Amino acid sequence: MKFLSNAHTHTTYCDGRSTITEQLRAAERLGFVSLGFSGHAMQGFDWEYCMSVEGQAAYTAELRAIQAEFACRPGALKLYVGLEQDALVPAQEKAKNRTTFDYIIGSTHYFHEPLEGAYVAVDGSRELLKRCVDQRFGGDPQAIAAAYYALHGSAVENDRPDIVGHFDLVRKYAAFLGLNTGSAAYRDAALSALERARRGCAVLEVNTGGIARGYEAEAFPAPFLLAAWRDMDGEVTLTSDCHDARYLDCAFDETAALLKATGFRRLLRLGTGTQMWDEVTL
Ligand SMILES: [Zn+2]
Ligand SMILES: [Zn+2]
Repeated sequence: MKFLSNAHTHTTYCDGRSTITEQLRAAERLGFVSLGFSGHAMQGFDWEYCMSVEGQAAYTAELRAIQAEFACRPGALKLYVGLEQDALVPAQEKAKNRTTFDYIIGSTHYFHEPLEGAYVAVDGSRELLKRCVDQRFGGDPQAIAAAYYALHGSAVENDRPDIVGHFDLVRKYAAFLGLNTGSAAYRDAALSALERARRGCAVLEVNTGGIARGYEAEAFPAPFLLAAWRDMDGEVTLTSDCHDARYLDCAFDETAALLKATGFRRLLRLGTGTQMWDEVTL
């Protein structure tokens, strides 16, 4: 089984290293049947890695033009114009995004309150994150993990995105922060957020981006969360959170094998016909 698709693809419009064209060429080389772009939505703060207002408009226009061209070309892959939207994107923007894009990945990167004038992200500066643990969470990394999960679970439940983004991204700096991801408290916080997320969305991404970037041995989310999602009758799609076209299908084969061993019978892949999803039997 080859998965041959990816719904989580970044470009130079946000923090990706590859252009739209480079990502498309990589997808064609791999024989992909579909590809979804998911630039970081304009969020109105921390402009470093999301799209600018003008950038998001240009991203959308450029991709819509290519999408129309591909739709007329026999044998071309099916292109989707999506968005990765942070939980803290303003409500007004979220409502607009819902009608502008083919799909939304609901992700959580940031905490509400800036520290030292900067927004704190669970996958950004680890030093700033550590100072946030010390100053806002009494030095307890478990407390910041619980806050992350509460935010992510409620955002997915309320925003109802099409795909739940990298569910346990907070584990990225677990070793640096001294966060024990095997503790009962950690697991309880993650599992109750997963239940909330399930009420807002049926499709969870299994994201190999950390493997591609060399800081994770396994995909997001961890196996205990995948097992719980399976028990909730949730669906899964495989994504590479691709920022560099060389890694567009990074670790897809072994991650699909892991999902099969976890008890999933199928994956969802961006559809090639009129439906958003096609099923791929594992
Ligand atoms: Zn993300
Ligand atoms: Zn991403």
